[in-house]
Amino acid sequence: MPHNHYDTIIIGAGISGLTCAYRLQEAGQRVLLLEKAPRFGGAIRSAREDEWLIEAGPNSTLETTPLLTELIRDAGVEDQKLYASDASKNRYILKHGKLTALPMSPPAFFKTGLFTWGTKLGLFGEPFKKPSPPDAQESVADFVRRRLGQEFLDYAINPFVAGVYAGDPELLSVRAAFPKLYELEQTYGGLIKGQIKGARERKKRGEESKQSARMFSFLDGMQTLTDALANAIPDKIHSAEVRAIRIGETEGNDSRFTVTVAHDGEEKEFAARDLIIATPAGPAAELSRAFAPKLSAELEEIPYPPVAEVITGYTPTADMHPLDGFGFLIPKVEKRRILGTIFSSTIFRKRAPEGKVHLTTFIGGMRQPEEALRPDQEIVQTALDEQRALLGTPEQPDFVYVTAWKHAIPQYVRGHLERMATVEEVEQAHPGLHYCANYRGGISVGDCVKSAHAVVDRVMASR
Ligand SMILES: Cc1cc2nc3c(=O)[nH]c(=O)nc-3n(C[C@H](O)[C@H](O)[C@H](O)COP(=O)(O)OP(=O)(O)OC[C@H]3O[C@@H](n4cnc5c(N)ncnc54)[C@H](O)[C@@H]3O)c2cc1C
Repeated sequence: MPHNHYDTIIIGAGISGLTCAYRLQEAGQRVLLLEKAPRFGGAIRSAREDEWLIEAGPNSTLETTPLLTELIRDAGVEDQKLYASDASKNRYILKHGKLTALPMSPPAFFKTGLFTWGTKLGLFGEPFKKPSPPDAQESVADFVRRRLGQEFLDYAINPFVAGVYAGDPELLSVRAAFPKLYELEQTYGGLIKGQIKGARERKKRGEESKQSARMFSFLDGMQTLTDALANAIPDKIHSAEVRAIRIGETEGNDSRFTVTVAHDGEEKEFAARDLIIATPAGPAAELSRAFAPKLSAELEEIPYPPVAEVITGYTPTADMHPLDGFGFLIPKVEKRRILGTIFSSTIFRKRAPEGKVHLTTFIGGMRQPEEALRPDQEIVQTALDEQRALLGTPEQPDFVYVTAWKHAIPQYVRGHLERMATVEEVEQAHPGLHYCANYRGGISVGDCVKSAHAVVDRVMASR
């Protein structure tokens, strides 16, 4: 094979691209991984400053699929894995300006002040509500209002959606963004019936539901995994932006895809039999414009709101909130300027120096994109002001670090499934071409790993 020809080229070295590259080279394929940024890992970025751990992207993830567990084991970083503490099982929701514990059991649900009796008793009627027609384009908000009521939407689902997608339930498609919720209704006729029966079936498949899967990170943060994967891939280039893709046989070999890459002030060409585009939707749209204009236009429509992540460290005081939980989320109806805060040093050890606490606050998203687009200093001030008001934190923090993502998390809004059908059409029209990133198949790290394995299986099936 000529030196610039590969079995597979992978564009983008986030967790999706890294998993594809790692598994394919392990299967004996000659792979080339190309990454535009000066580092590998994409949205996963961890660093230590003194003893403070900085997570610029995901702080943790859930052990929802055995594929993720096996990947961590095979990459040799299982011993650095850190499970969330028992103390972080408590979660808070802001109600009327006060942090209120989220009920975690049926008796606690009936005692909580988070919901009125109307909402609580309304749950008994949920199993008797009719499912929507299977092809209805329902938003998450309409789905929840219909089955569980407005208050449940405001004080449970709205903050939850802000925590997972930095999203707006009025815009997200229930079928695309929460396919399991949609399936519970379609398959079992309701959420409560579905919870019970679905748990039995997951057990048989060895999978965990997102509610019961264990949360973990690594001692030095999530980047431990992406670093280990990148280190195991021999042919990889960072600071290498793919600018164009050409499709068509190259002379003398079976490479169908040629990519033009800008690297070190030069343009280079590499060719391969399979090509995996593992970038966010925006760059994937640009790269596809020449051979798939319809898909390109549809990928560009996927919203990616800005999100700022502010890490603050404090010396705790006696009159501060005890930070005895995972953190808190804020319903939109509470009208605050942050989405919520994670009590990072309660969840995982070694996040802060001894005797200090570490908080991570999220700002912006679909709810208030303008808040995440302000200058860094103003974003930090918003976090400090809101933490002082809601947690009683001291005026002066010991540590501050801000990361502002201009295009953070893809939103699976109504019309998303049709866009994903176009992705499939283009893949079928160009055998050997694959799209794999967090706008398809789920946004969590575990979902990205699962989607990457599906692509690897398709590539290997063609060998
Ligand atoms: C702020 C934030 C918090 C999150 N929190 C969590 C969490 O707590 N738990 C969880 O499970 N998930 C979380 N997520 C989601 C999860 O981290 C992401 O969905 C996942 O890491 C995305 O991986 P990816 O490989 O699909 O894309 P990315 O990580 O975006 O990687 C794509 C790569 O493609 C590269 N690229 C783009 N264009 C080109 C080009 N032309 N040529 C070459 N390379 C290119 C980019 O530089 C990038 O490195 C969070 C995400 C964000 C942003």
